[in-house]
Amino acid sequence: MTSKLNTIAEWLKQEQIDFCFLTNPDSVFYVSGFLSDPHERLLGVGIFQSGDPFLVCPSMEKEDAKKAGWGYDIIGYTDIENPWPLIHKLCNDRTKSLEKIAIEKEHMNVERYELIGSLFSQATFLPAEEKLRKLRMVKSESEIATIREACALADYAIEVGCSEIAEGKTELEVLAAIEYELKKKGVSEMSFSTMVLTGQNGASPHGNPGLTIMKKGDLVLFDLGVVVDGYCSDITRTVALGDISEKQKEIYDTVFKAQAAAIEASKPGVTCQSVDLTARNIISAAGYGEYFPHRLGHGLGISVHEYPSLTETNTLLLEEGMVFTIEPGIYVPGVAGVRIEDDVLVTSNGVEILTKFPKELQIIR
Ligand code: MN
Ligand code: MN
Repeated sequence: MTSKLNTIAEWLKQEQIDFCFLTNPDSVFYVSGFLSDPHERLLGVGIFQSGDPFLVCPSMEKEDAKKAGWGYDIIGYTDIENPWPLIHKLCNDRTKSLEKIAIEKEHMNVERYELIGSLFSQATFLPAEEKLRKLRMVKSESEIATIREACALADYAIEVGCSEIAEGKTELEVLAAIEYELKKKGVSEMSFSTMVLTGQNGASPHGNPGLTIMKKGDLVLFDLGVVVDGYCSDITRTVALGDISEKQKEIYDTVFKAQAAAIEASKPGVTCQSVDLTARNIISAAGYGEYFPHRLGHGLGISVHEYPSLTETNTLLLEEGMVFTIEPGIYVPGVAGVRIEDDVLVTSNGVEILTKFPKELQIIR
């Protein structure tokens, strides 16, 4: 078994859980190496205390799963077959007791929960999420190497964006140019819908790019990420198109300082809370506290938002090998929206910044 499958089997033994059924595609990829978007169809990995695990996937994906390295049983099913009785039978063949079953409660929908509850009518169902979160939070060397590649491509995307922006172009025009250049480099998927926001749109933390035209004196905010072999990057840069106002500069400088201080404060043994507050206090002291309405950052990896969550209340300690974003922002309606976001890796005594595009205010002429 892969080390990740083994770790879960060990956990099942420790907790005396008979069976674990993972159905979140990100978790399935994490433990099996098989990356698949099943849409509404069932995809899952079943793991026991001892004995081989199994994979459930649509029949048409069986070969892809084998190519991805899955060497155990696969329950394939067509669009007119029901995989659940097959799962139930295989479980009964593999293990005597099926009293405690761990499932991903956050992911499983009510219909499936009712189904699994009626098939395994003697069982109690426990959440598997906490264990998965903990495992996924600390990255392996190979995961880090993949995230590095994703970050380098995110840097490149920002470089393209900066070279494309010009007075008279629309947000979507620049966005399309960025994604076109990435596709030429073999990027097939972004971590989330790319954001290119200008003018008033930039003052919304999660705006929608559209046909707004770029003008001199505007800030342009890029927020994007690239997926490489199933792992995400996530970067934000805010640049100026021509000269900007003193107020806009002051907001930029405040975010810049807050971001730098939070990076400086990040190291093993400090809480997520203290890192968030390091940035938040700087922004509040400058008078913009109410304009920073979100957490400082989030873990990233297979999912673009995972653990740890860098909020002002999370007392979780940072550990070597964690990868997360540091992304303070200030959004003042009618004035400016500025966010600066980097992806960092916790090292033995601090953090390494994985996204490297310059952060000093860039004024594009
Ligand atoms: Mn982010
Ligand atoms: Mn982002």
